[in-house]
Amino acid sequence: MTATGAPRAGVDRHTPLRFLRGVGPRRAEQLAEAGLATVDDLLFLLPRRYEDRREVLSPADVPGPGSHTVRGRLHELRLIRTRRRNFAIVRARVTDERGFLAVTWFNQPYLLQRFAEGEEVVLHGKVRMSEGALLELVNPSAERAGEPRVTGRVVPVYPSAGGLGSAAVARLMDQALPVLDSDPPPERLPDELLRRYSLPPLARALVDLHRPSGGVSLELLGRGESAAHHRLVYEELLELQLELALLRAREVRAEKRHRYRIDDRARAVAREVLPFRLTAAQKRAVREIVEDLRSPHPMLRLLQGDVGSGKTIVAALALLLAAESGLQGAFMAPTELLAEQHFGNLRRLLGARYRLALFTSSSADASARKALAAGDIDIAVGTHALVQGGLEFRSLALAIVDEQHRFGVEQRRLLQAKGERPDVLVMTATPIPRSLALTLYGDLELSVLDELPPGRTPVATEVRPASARRDVYRRLRDALAQGAQAYVVVPLIEESEEISAASLAEHGDRVRAFLADFPSEVLHGRLAAVERERVMRAFAEGRIRVLVATTVIEVGVDVPNASWMVIESAERFGLSQLHQLRGRVGRGERASRCVAIHGRLSESAARRLEIFASAADGFAVAEADLELRGPGDLLGTRQAGLPRLKVADLVAHRPWVERARADARELVGRLEEAPLAALAERVKSRLRDHHESFAGG
Ligand code: ADP
Ligand code: MG
Repeated sequence: MTATGAPRAGVDRHTPLRFLRGVGPRRAEQLAEAGLATVDDLLFLLPRRYEDRREVLSPADVPGPGSHTVRGRLHELRLIRTRRRNFAIVRARVTDERGFLAVTWFNQPYLLQRFAEGEEVVLHGKVRMSEGALLELVNPSAERAGEPRVTGRVVPVYPSAGGLGSAAVARLMDQALPVLDSDPPPERLPDELLRRYSLPPLARALVDLHRPSGGVSLELLGRGESAAHHRLVYEELLELQLELALLRAREVRAEKRHRYRIDDRARAVAREVLPFRLTAAQKRAVREIVEDLRSPHPMLRLLQGDVGSGKTIVAALALLLAAESGLQGAFMAPTELLAEQHFGNLRRLLGARYRLALFTSSSADASARKALAAGDIDIAVGTHALVQGGLEFRSLALAIVDEQHRFGVEQRRLLQAKGERPDVLVMTATPIPRSLALTLYGDLELSVLDELPPGRTPVATEVRPASARRDVYRRLRDALAQGAQAYVVVPLIEESEEISAASLAEHGDRVRAFLADFPSEVLHGRLAAVERERVMRAFAEGRIRVLVATTVIEVGVDVPNASWMVIESAERFGLSQLHQLRGRVGRGERASRCVAIHGRLSESAARRLEIFASAADGFAVAEADLELRGPGDLLGTRQAGLPRLKVADLVAHRPWVERARADARELVGRLEEAPLAALAERVKSRLRDHHESFAGG
């Protein structure tokens, strides 16, 4: 196999890059800073795209504008002076016996030195139609015809690295690639897996990516979907999933002490308590949870469901099963108001049979604490007050965290630590696409509520330009006059919270002027927590009719009477965020409406708002958002947990995420087997890097 050229004496995988031709000490430092220290590192720097230079044309045969490669002799190479300083144009003609083509280079005067009159070259670049309707090759790359490095091939274009452009990286790669023959990187995936998906071995995949051979589909290469790409993508995702599976194994490996009694009696109680029929999705989630509770190992599950999909009742049933088994449960919510609301709901459902108590910073009296520690309370509902030191359960068996995305993993762990290997259920209303959920929450099992309870009327959504504002508010006034309540959402202006608060106040004044007859208040993140709670409570109780707010209202307070929402400057919000906001209305009997008012729209903002108006389902919205913005932006800065992926793309490589997840779950129990040694070693060392607390055991 000599696709890679002849090996250079003394170069192997571990050779530092400074021993390559053309790399001095300074350059070596720059490369090292870019993560490229050795030949091995360089081999994993993949092309970002490919150019097809397999077809070489005579200058006379260039059919028209587009990317082309031509061979011919350079004539009339000359520098054209321009009036702009520091701006040089080099012109020439490339000719053969059949014809010629004009060539122009901008700002490359050194070309005059590099090539001699009449020299034979191969040029590749964009051909365009010049003013005189002549075809002209602009800024082509050039090489001497006698030393074809790239001509007649599919040419990889590299990302620039350590101050080197693609061509210079390619020259280094020429020196590095022979190593794939003489000292190939050891295979890290077991044969079994390579065969399962017909993937090439590592060294082969690298050769194919750096030196695509004749038979390769340029189309697949360009999209990152060649078998060679898949080989690296799968490995990257598998390592990540194994890491998550090991983390999970550490939490769930040991058996739990507590046992549930889930028998006919418990089922009868559940039936009696239920105020409505569960949706099919809720039934499925409950079944999955029951199976976990019955298992000798602790549950570690994420319940994902759009706003209003009915996660609370699922949690309530789990708590009921715990209480019915004589075990303690906890339910933690991100705000006091939400905790109170949950407490009220749970007490209505379960209060007749079990003992419930509320724990928030403003309502945890000493006697409740004592009762909790003594085991005289079955279900503790609260805020993060639940995880504070000093609060003790007698024996916490089931820990539930609502709106997990508002907490860190840390708080979940703290709650977990209040018991001995309790079962854990975390819930989130941020619908994220499955491929992303499996990557971000890969250590959790996943239950999804992908269906809304019956009888919900979808929120009618309109997108209107700012010029229609008056009309919108007039209609809002009519709705208010008929007893509705409304949210008016104003974006947070990033640069300064003060400006933001000021603009919000100003907007509040304007809205109030519009809606003078109706009591309104302003809510934003800079208000003290108690003040926020006061305003929110007044709105929930109907004393305030209009709430002018920033996105602080995103999180789950239920105000069924609120049936109108106006979102100002909607173009500034992300798609998922718009959807979250919209979820605040449409929770009661009234037909609900959400009007997004926008200023000038960029193309992407127009696309976002179009999707927002037409898609009602949170998962559909999230899928669209993932494709529009990519995973990092979709999650926002709050979700720092997203791993850095080098080759895999969570949108394009979705099926590989699924495969990697399933395979990791299967492999994690047998990492000790010899064929898995290399893989296991890498994953464990990654874990040690990422999670200092992970001792590997
Ligand atoms: P979320 O998933 O956003 O937390 P909730 O649990 O607050 O949603 O449920 C939203 C509303 O839907 C609540 O008023 C709840 O009582 C109601 N609900 C939940 N499940 C059903 C169902 N199966 N049938 C009818 N109403 C339901
Ligand atoms: Mg909820």
